Amino acid sequence: MFVPFCDLRKQIDPINSEIKKAIKRVFSRGQFILGPELEAFEKEFGKFCNIPYTVGCASGTEAIVLALMALGIGSGDEVITVPNTAMPTVAAISMTGARPVFVDVESNGLLMDPSQLEGVITSRTRAVLPVHLYGQAADMDPILEIAQKNNLAVIEDACQAHGAKYKNKLCGTLAEVGCFSFYPTKNLGAYGDAGLVVSWSIDLSQRLKLLRNYGNKGGYNFIFKGINSRLDEIQAAILRVKLNYLKKWNQTRKKLAEYYRKTLEGLPLDLPAELPNRYHVYHLYVVRCLERDRLQEFLSQHDIQTLIHYPVPIHLQSAYKELGYKHGDFPVAEKAANEALSLPFYPGISFQTMDYVAEVIRKFFIA
Ligand SMILES: *Cc1c(COP(=O)(O)O)cnc(C)c1O
Repeated sequence: MFVPFCDLRKQIDPINSEIKKAIKRVFSRGQFILGPELEAFEKEFGKFCNIPYTVGCASGTEAIVLALMALGIGSGDEVITVPNTAMPTVAAISMTGARPVFVDVESNGLLMDPSQLEGVITSRTRAVLPVHLYGQAADMDPILEIAQKNNLAVIEDACQAHGAKYKNKLCGTLAEVGCFSFYPTKNLGAYGDAGLVVSWSIDLSQRLKLLRNYGNKGGYNFIFKGINSRLDEIQAAILRVKLNYLKKWNQTRKKLAEYYRKTLEGLPLDLPAELPNRYHVYHLYVVRCLERDRLQEFLSQHDIQTLIHYPVPIHLQSAYKELGYKHGDFPVAEKAANEALSLPFYPGISFQTMDYVAEVIRKFFIA
C-alpha cells in the first residue's frame, strides 16, 4: 500500500459536479478576469471571516506583497518575521525591496516569540509579519501590543490558517491586514494559484484593488505603481463552491488529528502542541522526532510519503546569505528544522491508513 502525503482527489471527486457547473457558468459568460465570480467570492470569504474588506489576488505570496505595498513598505524598510516559514513569506518581503529581519520562535507551537521582538526593532522597522504556522495562530496579543507601542503595522500570514482562531477571533482578522493563499493543498485550495488580502480599512482595500491591477484607477489613469495580480474568474468560481465545505473540512482535519494523537500517544515523538486560546485547523500534522531523518527513511521504505516543513530555516538559505545570518542565530527554528516531520494528512485519509502509518512508526521505535 502506497500512502501519499496528500491526495486531493479525495476532495475533488465528491464535489466534481458542482465544480463543473461553476466552471461552465464562467465559460458561458466569457469573462475571465475581474468579474462577478471574484466579486461574489470576495464577499463570501469576507462573510466567512467576519471582516468587511477583501481583495483577491493571484497567490498568497502576492497577497503579502500587495499588503506591504499598500502600507507603503518597500526599499529601506525592515519587516520582522520568523525563519521557520514557507519561503513565500520572506520572498514577498524581499520583492518589495524591504529587508526581512528574523526573530526566533517559541518551542511549543514554533510560532513567533513575541519576547524577542523588541530586541530587533530599529528606526527602519515598519511592520511585524507573524505566521500562523501549520494551522495554529501565533500569540497575537503581545505581538499587537508591541507593534502598537512601536508604531508598526502588523500583517498576518494566514496562508496556513483559513478558519483558525485566536481567542475566538479568526486568523487574518486580528491585525490591520491578513493574507491568505489558496494554493491547492491549503485548507481552502483553488485548482491552481490564488490568494486574497483581508482588511478592516476601506482605504487600504481601495489601494489594494488598484495595486493588483497595475495601479489603474479606471479609464487610463494610473495613480500607483502597481502589479498584475488578480484572482481569475475560474478559480473564484471554484473557490466559491469549496468555501461552503471549509468549516466541515476543518472539523474533519481536527478529528483526524485527534485520531493520530490517540494512535501515536506514548511513542518517543512530540505530537503537535495545541496552545491555549487557539482553534487549530491542522493544515499539516507535524510531529517532532530526534531521529527524524531515520524515521523518514523507514517510513519511505514502507511506502509512506512524508514531507518536512521546513528542512532549512530561511536565514540559512543561500538566497538570503546577504542578510548575514549564521548557524546558531535562531536555535529553536534550527532545532525544529532537524526534528519536524509532516505525516500523511488530508481530509479523506482513512483511519485505516492512519493506523498503518502509526503501526510503521511503532515498528521503527521497537526495531
Ligand atoms: C502557502 C504559503 C504562502 C503563500 O504561498 P503561495 O504559493 O504564493 O500561494 C505564504 N506563507 C505561508 C506560510 C504559506 O504556507
